[in-house]
Amino acid sequence: MMVGTRTILVVDDTVTNLDILVELLKDYDVIEAAGGVEALEIVAEEEIDLILLDIMMPVMDGYAVCRKLKEIEESKDIPIIFITARSDEDAIEKAYDAGGVDYVTKPFKPKELLARVKIQLEHQEMIEKLEFLASHDPMTGIYNRRKFFELANRKFAESSKDLYVAMMDIDRFKKINDTYGHPTGDRVIKAVTRVVSENIDEGSVFGRLGGEEFAVVCRHSSRDNVVERLELIREKIEQLETRSAGGELIRCTISEGVAKADETTGNLDELLQRADEMLYKAKGSGRNKAIFRI
Ligand code: GH3
Ligand code: MG
Ligand code: MG
Repeated sequence: MMVGTRTILVVDDTVTNLDILVELLKDYDVIEAAGGVEALEIVAEEEIDLILLDIMMPVMDGYAVCRKLKEIEESKDIPIIFITARSDEDAIEKAYDAGGVDYVTKPFKPKELLARVKIQLEHQEMIEKLEFLASHDPMTGIYNRRKFFELANRKFAESSKDLYVAMMDIDRFKKINDTYGHPTGDRVIKAVTRVVSENIDEGSVFGRLGGEEFAVVCRHSSRDNVVERLELIREKIEQLETRSAGGELIRCTISEGVAKADETTGNLDELLQRADEMLYKAKGSGRNKAIFRI
């Protein structure tokens, strides 16, 4: 881990304590908060990797801050180390119950605190790596099926307003495999997903549903723009040239089926189902086209 790239939030109502922590953690990016409310505001705005939290503070004590942070989706996974003058067993138990990962009593031993900080950051980094592996398709780097459904369902739950789903499938892909071999087929899949990734808006959810089949979920205020964008992607893939393992230039096309959520759409699966029906139509009417459900 690169020391200095991680951001630690230190929360304490005593300025001298904050000063000591800032000095001790000088190899990291440190943000200070003088109380619980301020800490919550900072966490809402900044990317925080670890929190050192005092317990006895006016207005909102450390337990309440910790419990609050654990309730919020964006902050629930940030590890929290309590640093406190309280050393009774009940206080320690309560800190872990509130969601803390570690507990250090004041006055602390500087080297010990640094070691505890380091190990929590290493844990955190390992978890992030595992989460990435569990949510991304190793070949293309885009979301895997499981993560796609998780994020797409979340988007639908937020609101189905202006929500679109596009299903995409490479045309006659089996023939590419049969002609040039599986490794070349892999190259084609990677090249195709790169084009799609580069041409969708930030905030869109793009995932590999299986083999050579992909889906995009996006929110857009203009239907025409969605159609235009999908048409652009289709054309770019039509023009894309991939080299086979043997050096030959290969071209491929994709078919797209698109559907927009309306008041009759009960859930994401229904929307995907409709898009899939349109994809099926595109396949049945010549391929290399996008069909939009009216
Ligand atoms: P259509 O135009 O109707 O979609 O025809 P198709 O040949 O693309 O469709 P089909 O579903 O018959 O074949 C898809 C093939 O994709 C079959 C499978 O072996 C291959 N495939 C699935 N996953 C991978 C992969 O990761 N790499 C490679 N190279 N091939 C894959
Ligand atoms: Mg196909
Ligand atoms: Mg297929």
